[in-house]
Amino acid sequence: MSSKVKKNILKLKESSTLAINEKSKELIKSGKKIYRFGFGQSPFQIPEKVVDTLKLNAHKKEYLPIQGLPELREKISNHLFKNTGVRYSKENILITPGSKEAMLLMHVTFNGEILTPAPSWVSYEPQAQIGSNKVHWLETSRENNWFPTAIELEKKLKKIGKNKNIIFILNSPNNPSGAICKNLKELAQVAKKYKLIILSDEIYTDLSFDNRYKSISEFYPKATFISGGLSKWCGAGGWRLGFLAVPNESKQFMNSLKSLASESYSTVNTPTQFAAVEAYKGDYEQYKLKVRSILNSVGNYVYNNLKSNKVIINPPQGAFYLMPEFKNKKFKTSSKLCEVILNETGVAMLPGSDFGFKPDKMLTRLSYTDFDGTQFFKNVKDYKTISDEMVRKYAPNVVEGTTKLSNWAKNL
Ligand code: PMP
Ligand code: GLU
Repeated sequence: MSSKVKKNILKLKESSTLAINEKSKELIKSGKKIYRFGFGQSPFQIPEKVVDTLKLNAHKKEYLPIQGLPELREKISNHLFKNTGVRYSKENILITPGSKEAMLLMHVTFNGEILTPAPSWVSYEPQAQIGSNKVHWLETSRENNWFPTAIELEKKLKKIGKNKNIIFILNSPNNPSGAICKNLKELAQVAKKYKLIILSDEIYTDLSFDNRYKSISEFYPKATFISGGLSKWCGAGGWRLGFLAVPNESKQFMNSLKSLASESYSTVNTPTQFAAVEAYKGDYEQYKLKVRSILNSVGNYVYNNLKSNKVIINPPQGAFYLMPEFKNKKFKTSSKLCEVILNETGVAMLPGSDFGFKPDKMLTRLSYTDFDGTQFFKNVKDYKTISDEMVRKYAPNVVEGTTKLSNWAKNL
């Protein structure tokens, strides 16, 4: 008898980000000292007023419209307009249980092929597999800040061939590299020439350390889809509140997404949508400035104390990740490297191979969020002057884990 599970689903495994989170927790429970640099979760408290709004709306039990609360869609439309200069109308915004679901629905809907840079977030490829869409990887280099150049993009597109529907995924600030894309305009020009659809994953864009929200939609609004949500800038990953903004020209796509939403999750839970209105309506600029500044300081601490002739890293620019490369000939794969590091130092990281790199590239993803963000946040009086002293005081696990890792690398 043939397998009862579809071939493309059978290939999937548990997402490595969630798996490392669970593994780290188990190890901690068993009494081991673990530095949780594997999972990417905001350590900060959700702004109080947003939490209060959730409480105030907890009794609301009616289903909201499939597409989401109109007021929330309007606020997200304004948020995008303010930051990108592009008006995605509220009719073209879909509220989803996390932006991950928004992207999954896009893959299920889309008829074509996916082009994504290496490195890219762990879930893009499996999601494309679920949608039965072929994936093409576009290799990038450290010299080019881990983003493709316009020439590289065009070369790859020529190789893929003509007359294909293609979604190009771009995520800046980037998970896993922590880098910000500086050539959006040039990439958009190529995308336009080849009539690509762009999926701009902007879940970290509010966490750009240069305090500038940059979106490729600015240069190619006609075909740029934007995904985002509350998980990163607002510290509300577990609330599962995301959105997808669809270009005004893509009505057919939008209608199909809505049908899929209605046949799967129906609509996102009501109280969270009301709380999200507050998150997108209120003025959280000071909160964001402080969050960014703390992350930037912690990221820089790790960068400064880890880089050596054995460990190469680019400085942090946004989100909460770094991507160190370990110079060694001992290990054959980055997953073996991560396994040994975890066993010998207690530092949990993810291997570069989970992000589209060849297994023999000794890259890892390091998430520098293993600290009590509430305490750190409370004790920062002036966000412009966060010293290493403060990092040592309020992010001791990050500091200790960095020392362990750095000492370990000396013996490579
Ligand atoms: N994109 C990237 C690059 C991510 O790291 C994450 C992590 N959660 C997501 C999308 C999905 O975020 P969420 O579903 O919580 O909105
Ligand atoms: N985005 C986070 C990460 O890359 C975890 C959450 C998730 O994968 O859904 O670690």
